[in-house]
Amino acid sequence: MLIPARMSEAEEQRWVTVMLDKLAAQESKNKRVPGDNELAERAEQLSAQYFDGRARPTSVRWVTNQNTRWGSCTPAEGSIRLSHRLQGMPEYVVDYVLLHELAHLLVPGHGPRFWRLLDAYPRTERARGYLEGVVAADRLPHPPSARGD
Ligand SMILES: [Zn+2]
Repeated sequence: MLIPARMSEAEEQRWVTVMLDKLAAQESKNKRVPGDNELAERAEQLSAQYFDGRARPTSVRWVTNQNTRWGSCTPAEGSIRLSHRLQGMPEYVVDYVLLHELAHLLVPGHGPRFWRLLDAYPRTERARGYLEGVVAADRLPHPPSARGD
């Protein structure tokens, strides 16, 4: 980092702090994730596009307490929850999980009728492959340490 000449140590510290804050702000802007409202809007669009608008969730939100499932829904309440682990994944993957849960509002379980619904979404197989890859990568052993043991 280039630091302007003739700064006192205190000035220098302050300057570095300001620059780091700016970088952090930029970073979080680039990795912006949709909020719950946007998620609900997205669900509405997807339902309209693929399910003739028949799936109508009452709430769609991110949750951080879901580490073994990507999404879940409570059909009786019409609520859908997506794991925060999906944040930062490609949009088509998040869309797939949203559609998957939307489909459960129409068809419980994973029978042929359920998958027929999801066949309408052209990236179902690709998204499932992506998520399987993420799970597999999580299970890989950690790389050997730099100490060489
Ligand atoms: Zn399911």
